[in-house]
Amino acid sequence: MISRLLLHASESKKLEHTVSRSRLTRGLVKRYVAGNTLDDALAVTAALKKKNIDVSLDLLGESVTDLIESERATKEYVEAIQAIPRHVPGSTISVKPSQLGMLVDKDACARNLSVLLAAAAENDVLVEVDMEQSAVGPSTLEAYRALLPKYTDTRVAMQAAVRRTQDDLESFTEHKPRIRLVKGAFKETLAVAVQDKDEVTYRYLKMSEWALANLPDPAFGTHDDRCINHVKATAERLGVDRRNFEFQMLYGVRRKLWTELVQEGYRVRIYLPYGTAWYPYLMRRMAERPANLLLFMRSLVGG
Ligand SMILES: Cc1cc2nc3c(=O)[nH]c(=O)nc-3n(C[C@H](O)[C@H](O)[C@H](O)COP(=O)(O)OP(=O)(O)OC[C@H]3O[C@@H](n4cnc5c(N)ncnc54)[C@H](O)[C@@H]3O)c2cc1C
Repeated sequence: MISRLLLHASESKKLEHTVSRSRLTRGLVKRYVAGNTLDDALAVTAALKKKNIDVSLDLLGESVTDLIESERATKEYVEAIQAIPRHVPGSTISVKPSQLGMLVDKDACARNLSVLLAAAAENDVLVEVDMEQSAVGPSTLEAYRALLPKYTDTRVAMQAAVRRTQDDLESFTEHKPRIRLVKGAFKETLAVAVQDKDEVTYRYLKMSEWALANLPDPAFGTHDDRCINHVKATAERLGVDRRNFEFQMLYGVRRKLWTELVQEGYRVRIYLPYGTAWYPYLMRRMAERPANLLLFMRSLVGG
């Protein structure tokens, strides 16, 4: 219930205005976001790389309503792509199609995505496509499918909670996708996505088995011990080497576990957001951990 309220709040422009101006939210933002600029993100990335932890850079911003904004985001992403080989090789970028204009003009979004992928290929940087709310999910997959034959290493996030996901996964026949399996962070109807947390986890476990058995280099985006342990045990059972898949986690969540997994010989990549448009991202993080609700309410009252 609380989670759904917070997810609802993540879409409210009025609350965004209040929360973004509150000084008390700063501590919360700092926990989950690298800073306002690319330089901030590169500094955090370099520190993580020293601990053998990789990063995927996420420029904050989503659901843009005009194409000038989407072009600006594309340009900023190209800057990040060009900086990666010089400063933090091995890092990837994570992009949100709604930030590239998917809700305004699908063709313009596909063009922006192509610009990013071409720049990424030129700089030897891999791109990960986030999966957003169901209003953009099918078009995201369509755009990904069209680009996959040319950019075969591109990763796409797939949401275990969403009912069509397993069918979508199996629909790739010629080129197998590299995926990031996540539970799903968006507010969806019962028709679109499973709502019961245990059922979502059960689906995650089953899909992780399928991914390890059928897909190249899968990534598992989760902080849930049940999921992580299941992935480890399944990989062991199927004889998949620890270096042939990776765990991904969000910056600010379960830091100790990152180093423990690295010490056990697993690959770990941290999803690292930067930029000023942090409101919807932060609200989804709050929804995942209602224990943070008190802090959040204080920031509203104080603001
Ligand atoms: C690298 C990465 C990329 C992602 N990309 C996408 C995407 O493209 N599309 C999408 O829909 N979703 C994405 N997500 C979010 C994902 O869908 C889940 O909402 C989120 O990961 C929480 O699910 P969980 O598997 O960690 O399990 P949960 O059961 O939610 O959490 C397990 C435990 O992790 C800790 N935890 C989880 N979340 C938080 C938090 N916010 N703050 C503090 N502790 C927390 C708690 O200890 C909790 O008990 C991504 C997640 C990760 C890790």
